[in-house]
Amino acid sequence: MKVLSGYEPAEVLGFFEEICGIPHISYHEKALSDYCVAFAKERNLYYEQDELGNVIIIGEATEGYEDVEPIIIQGHLDMVGDKVPECEIDMERESIRIMVDGDSITADGTTLGGDDGIAIAYGLALLDSKEIPRPRLELVLTVCEEVGLEGATAIDLSCCRAKRLLNIDSEDEGVFTAGCAGGVRVDSLIPTDMVEKSGVICEIKTTGFLGGHSGIEIHKGRANSNVMLGRFFLFLKDKVSFDIVGMAGGVKDNVIPKNANASFIVEEKDIETLKNAVVEFNAVISEEFAVADPHVALVLEVKDVSVCKVLSDVSKEKMITALNLMPNGVQTMSQDLPGLVETSLNMGVVKVDEEGISTSFAVRSSVASAKDYLTSRLEQFTEMLGGTVNYHGDYPGWAYARESRLRDLCVKIYERQYGETPKVEVIHAGLECGILSSKIEGLDCISIGPNMADVHTPDEVISISSIARVWEFIKAVLAEK
Ligand SMILES: [Zn+2]
Repeated sequence: MKVLSGYEPAEVLGFFEEICGIPHISYHEKALSDYCVAFAKERNLYYEQDELGNVIIIGEATEGYEDVEPIIIQGHLDMVGDKVPECEIDMERESIRIMVDGDSITADGTTLGGDDGIAIAYGLALLDSKEIPRPRLELVLTVCEEVGLEGATAIDLSCCRAKRLLNIDSEDEGVFTAGCAGGVRVDSLIPTDMVEKSGVICEIKTTGFLGGHSGIEIHKGRANSNVMLGRFFLFLKDKVSFDIVGMAGGVKDNVIPKNANASFIVEEKDIETLKNAVVEFNAVISEEFAVADPHVALVLEVKDVSVCKVLSDVSKEKMITALNLMPNGVQTMSQDLPGLVETSLNMGVVKVDEEGISTSFAVRSSVASAKDYLTSRLEQFTEMLGGTVNYHGDYPGWAYARESRLRDLCVKIYERQYGETPKVEVIHAGLECGILSSKIEGLDCISIGPNMADVHTPDEVISISSIARVWEFIKAVLAEK
């Protein structure tokens, strides 16, 4: 007995449950990609699958729709694999266990992958049906969206004829996304020299920081744990003489870091002054971040006397300078769209050791020239300190189109179905639409999706009734001649 049998829309939920049964976290989408290919073969539909696992399946127009403009339905094959610590499922190989709770579908102890399995389910249900009236439908499913839009960057869309694209990767039924920022990852490396010294080894680490998503939460004024340790050492300079052994902070360049720790040495006689300095520093930051990040603090641990390799004085100055003076956070707000962050960056990952002072940033902007300017500032700064930068994962933004027939059509259908006007938004996070638009001249895009919450976490839920309403909405958009 299937968990979702008996729920509507059965044709969509049936595929959704099968998709949930196939492991498909990022970089492990092959089985799901092959499942989509098998689907196409069984129905004699044209398909393409590239070596990464991206899949395109094409269904010709139904009767009477041969002259209607074709449309791309698009989503991504991969999901974020996260689980609660006690969960024993191996998400690379084993199925997740889905459950229904009232109107919600959720997974037991893991992410659900409603982001973005629901897009695949809608797409397959549309192609599976002989009754749903629609134009030529080009289903485009990409791999590795969650790890830097890799599938979309590599995909070849030359078999597509559509000039309009409905992306189903948004999480709020009443909100259409019509533009997003572009981004690039910047890694800066400044070489260090080490010298041998002896002293009392101390460790300082951050605690209570909220962290967050650098595309969605960068404007919330939360503290960055990497920058905070840099600030601590700047603060400490006037009080105690110290030498830095090393530092590590953050997990991903696009995540506002919560955790960072550094080890350093001081002279025995300065331990009390050091302890007082930490107390004083904590008082300053807890006051400053009382609203935006109310539990931020640093914790000091004093260890044994030891001889170890520490940064030379010059390298130490470079580290303190870099952590405090490299730009971080919101740079500009949009003047066109109130409340939208235009340009930002996040010092997501820091590592300091004998290899150098390494910092990794996620840079975002809805203005391409502003993104370029910010990356050249990082480059200029790094070079001034004798280092080099490396760029990767560069993706274009998706500029808000002043005129969009697809957007107008979606708004009209939404108003008819719901009796109210949807919100049309531009976001600071990245979506695949920007990359895909750069591959098809004049591509008209919009992003929609059913209600989901807590995506990318084991609490992820998707609403069944919302899936049903969005299903009706998609069919109505396709039925329009
Ligand atoms: Zn997604």
